[in-house]
Amino acid sequence: MRAAIVAVGSELLGTDRLDTNSLKLTALLAEHGIELVAKSVVGDDEAWLAAELTRRLSEVDLVLVTGGLGPTEDDCTRAATARALGLTTRFDPQLEATIRRRFERMGLVMPEVNRRQAEVIEGGVVLDNEWGTAPGLRLSAGDSTLWLFPGVPRELAGMMERHLRPWLERRAPGGSREQRVLKVSCVPESTLEEQIAPAYREFGREAITVLAKPGEIQLRFWALGEPAQRQRRLDEIELRLRRLIGPAVYARGEEASLEETVGELLRAAGQTVVTAESCTGGLVAERLTRVSGSSDYFLGAAVTYSNTLKAAMLAVPPELLAEHGAVSEPVACSMASGGRRALGGDFCIALTGIAGPGGGSEDKPVGTVHIAVAGPSDEEVVHRRICYPGDRQGIRSLASQVGLEMLRRLLLKPTA
Ligand code: AMP
Ligand code: MG
Repeated sequence: MRAAIVAVGSELLGTDRLDTNSLKLTALLAEHGIELVAKSVVGDDEAWLAAELTRRLSEVDLVLVTGGLGPTEDDCTRAATARALGLTTRFDPQLEATIRRRFERMGLVMPEVNRRQAEVIEGGVVLDNEWGTAPGLRLSAGDSTLWLFPGVPRELAGMMERHLRPWLERRAPGGSREQRVLKVSCVPESTLEEQIAPAYREFGREAITVLAKPGEIQLRFWALGEPAQRQRRLDEIELRLRRLIGPAVYARGEEASLEETVGELLRAAGQTVVTAESCTGGLVAERLTRVSGSSDYFLGAAVTYSNTLKAAMLAVPPELLAEHGAVSEPVACSMASGGRRALGGDFCIALTGIAGPGGGSEDKPVGTVHIAVAGPSDEEVVHRRICYPGDRQGIRSLASQVGLEMLRRLLLKPTA
């Protein structure tokens, strides 16, 4: 089965409204292994929409439309559909009564414009909408099926689950498609591609997708079939990928975050962390405290932007600052060990760098960040220098990711 999605609404052609409904529909189609071949956005224009629907119905088996079912003058999806299919509309008094009752339940009188929502297309199946006033509609057009859903995201989501999901389940014979996500931190995309090449050969190039952003890669893979069969297949792929990539895989799941994983490791080890931050201005601390329950292992932070505060709060020797500059390996290491002592954690993540856009020099270009992690004992300090040619937020975000990843790696090491 091949599908197309059409999002209707002039506001979606502008700059301040994004078509998010099609993402929900796309996910549902993907779950059922249905190929999506096109997505389009059409303004509130009956002729354009009718032409778009005619075209899509000639190309695919399933056309999913959202938007334009409201009561106002600009909502023309019903009329455009009738025009595209050469069908007439008819007023459905029972449907009008349902809409009227809905208003009455809310203590309101139905405005006369809402009568338009009781117009149904001849031959269509009305889809009730318990989340709003606009009913949906399902129609057959030759060998294709056309669905009309309202545009309000909450209504679309509800109706999609209520009406479309069961319909797809009856029609997707291979069973549903299930996705799993593994998250990998701080590995260059090309390195990862090389590492997982054997898995592409074993499971098929299309079974695995790599989505990269600075400091984090998501590996997405899929399996088809019945639930038990899918689980077995996903477990098999996951095990293989973990073997190929090694400890850079930090979590499973779309929602997983590095700060959560670090938090779990700290809690399991019964250890604590503090941060000493310059160019990140407390971002690492902010990320650690996004996780509820982080007070179990996060003690606090020193945001030391000036040299004076680096010396005063973290006991960084002024000579070290004078000799190497604030953005340097010795200062980062001194911030980490000084911060660990001053703030009293088992570990301290320290960051000092040039986030730009100004302030770079030939030997310390914008994007240079020195990151050090001290702990768990007094002598132990690890250091990394990154130089990432991004914008200010990108540099700070990558630096925070590397700092958390360095701590994670230390926590993975078996203790002597
Ligand atoms: P409509 O059903 O066209 O009256 O749309 C009602 C409201 O839902 C609009 O004002 C939009 O804010 C929102 N909306 C419509 N289509 C979409 C879409 N594809 N994605 C996200 N929001 C939408
Ligand atoms: Mg609209």
